[in-house]
Amino acid sequence: MSTSSFTKQAPGVEPVEPALTPPSSDNSAATFVKKKLKLTTGKTKKKDIPAGLWTKCPECETMLFDKELDENLKVCLKCNHHFSIGARERIHSLVETCTFEEMDAQMISVDVLGFTGAASYKDKLVSNWKKSNLKDAVITGIGQIGTHRVGLGVMDFAFLGGSMGSVVGEKLTRLIERSTEKNLPVIIISTSGGARMYEGMFSLMQMAKTCAALAYHARAKLPYLSVLTHPTTAGVMASYASVGDLILAEPAAMIGFAGPRVIKDTTQAELPPGFQTAEFLLEHGLIDAIVPRKELKERLVYYLDFLTEGKRQSATPN
Ligand SMILES: [Zn+2]
Repeated sequence: MSTSSFTKQAPGVEPVEPALTPPSSDNSAATFVKKKLKLTTGKTKKKDIPAGLWTKCPECETMLFDKELDENLKVCLKCNHHFSIGARERIHSLVETCTFEEMDAQMISVDVLGFTGAASYKDKLVSNWKKSNLKDAVITGIGQIGTHRVGLGVMDFAFLGGSMGSVVGEKLTRLIERSTEKNLPVIIISTSGGARMYEGMFSLMQMAKTCAALAYHARAKLPYLSVLTHPTTAGVMASYASVGDLILAEPAAMIGFAGPRVIKDTTQAELPPGFQTAEFLLEHGLIDAIVPRKELKERLVYYLDFLTEGKRQSATPN
C-alpha cells in the first residue's frame, strides 16, 4: 500500500509529485479510503521519509533537508557534525572552477591474488564501480586553489572503505612525482580504513612507495599538506597521511592506527577519554590544526601563502 501521501505533506518538504486530486464531496467511499490511509500511515512516519530527501544527524538527531545539507558541504546545520563527503564534492568545494585536470582517471585494480571469499575481489570492484561511480578510492589531479596551483589527491570512503590498494598508491605516487616535476605543493585529503586486504602485500608496498615519492618532493623544498578526515586509520595513517609538513584534521575525526578495542585488548589498559579523536591528537601534538570543512579552502590558501613565500621571493628577479 502506498504511503507517499503522508510524507508529501511533511513540513518543509516540497512535493515531489503533483498532489492527489481532492475527492469530490459526493464520493464518500473515496474519502473514507483516504482517511483510512492517513490513519494507517501515521505510525510509520519515520520509516516513510523518502530516501534522498532527508538525513538524520547521528549526533543531534535533527532531520536535515538533503539539499541544505549538500549546500552546507555535508555539515550539520545545527550541531556542526561533519558527515562524510565524496571526493568529487570535496574537489568542487576547494578548487577554482574549471581548473582541475584529473590524472589517471581510468586506472583500475588487477586481481593479482585471485582473492576469494564471500565475494571475489573482482565482484567487489565491479559492485563498487557501480555504487560509487568511482574507479577506485582516490581522485588525483592538478588544480588551482586561490592563486596556487597544487597537486591534489582526495580519497573517498564510499569506495571499499577508502582502502589503499595498488591503484590508490600508484595514483598518489604519480601525483606527487608530477608535482615535484612541476614545482607544485601537494595536498592529500585522506579518509581510509587502511590497506586493502584483497591485494595483500601489494597494498602494503604502497606505504613505502608514496612516502618515498614524498621524500623526493620534500627534498625539492616543496610543501605537503595532509588533511585527515573521519576516519583515517591503519596503513594510510601509518604512511603518507602522517608525514605532512602540516597535518590538519576535520573536527571530531577518528584518527589512529589500530582500532581502540584492539589496543585495549593488547595493552590491557584503560584508554583515555577522547582517544583517537582529532581534538585529542591536537592536544598531544600529532596534528597541527583542526579546520572545519567550510573554512578549509581559506585555510589552505593561508598556509600555502606562508609555505611558498620563500619560493615566490626567490623566483622574483631583483
Ligand atoms: Zn547535528
